[in-house]
Amino acid sequence: MADAAAEYGVKVMCRFRPLNESEITRGDKYIPKFKEDDTVIITGKPYVFDRVLPPNTAQEQVYDACAKQIVKDVLGGYNGTIFAYGQTSSGKTHTMEVSLILLSKTNLAVHEDKNRVPYVKGCTERFVSSPEEVMDVIDEGKANRHVAVTNMNEHSSRSHSIFLINIKQENVETEKKLSGKLYLVDLAGSEKVSKTGAEGAVLDEAKNINKSLSALGNVISALAEGTKTHVPYRDSKMTRILQDSLGGNCRTTIIICASPSIYNECETKSTLMFGQRWV
Ligand code: ADP
Ligand code: MG
Repeated sequence: MADAAAEYGVKVMCRFRPLNESEITRGDKYIPKFKEDDTVIITGKPYVFDRVLPPNTAQEQVYDACAKQIVKDVLGGYNGTIFAYGQTSSGKTHTMEVSLILLSKTNLAVHEDKNRVPYVKGCTERFVSSPEEVMDVIDEGKANRHVAVTNMNEHSSRSHSIFLINIKQENVETEKKLSGKLYLVDLAGSEKVSKTGAEGAVLDEAKNINKSLSALGNVISALAEGTKTHVPYRDSKMTRILQDSLGGNCRTTIIICASPSIYNECETKSTLMFGQRWV
């Protein structure tokens, strides 16, 4: 029997953002060449994904390609996780925001369940009754996110952000209950430490981030290989938190985010390689 990972697979998408203002001002060369809807070529080398989304792709189209099915499955009682991976300012946060088109299209009713205790220390839990309230909670979370200044960018998000949407449904006629969890994981920037010119605490933090990103990569590789492999969930805090929404019967999508500028060529290649492992 095919295991769940093989059956549903780990979907790996790749999105390129447009050149940004500073890249245009600097006169940076635009390097990706797009082929079919699943291949991007960087300096002659093709990288194939389940789907490649070029810079002119609208948020709504990204939602349709990357989030729609998972959202549908979560509403159907499955758990799922959507990750955004890439260097700082590659468009991860911008891309994760599409997952919320979820919520703005679905008419969710409130479910009181106030006795539940958040199990991650320092995390907050809110009950929401409308898409607007969900957006408020997200803005609150963004403000709390730890941001350290490095000289790579004005603001480099050096932390992972995990947003959990817990959906519980009950059919009032049949009393049949369904519950599904959707984790939206906006990963910390994947750039190499040396490029950020970080020192001291920022450098230690960067090393921890790189360690947890590779632990995540190992977990996803083990899941992609099938059930007989040991899945090293316990190797990082993030994978322990996500354990019940990764693998098994869960839906996992990774969106690899990248810049089209030659200036970021090295980071872009290593970002694409990270996602290539599971395609
Ligand atoms: P990250 O979270 O990876 O650091 P952001 O999502 O914050 O990057 O994106 C960096 C900047 O680029 C933001 O100002 C964002 O609005 C813009 N941006 C990112 N992706 C796109 C896109 N596909 N189209 C237009 N602007 C984008
Ligand atoms: Mg971000």
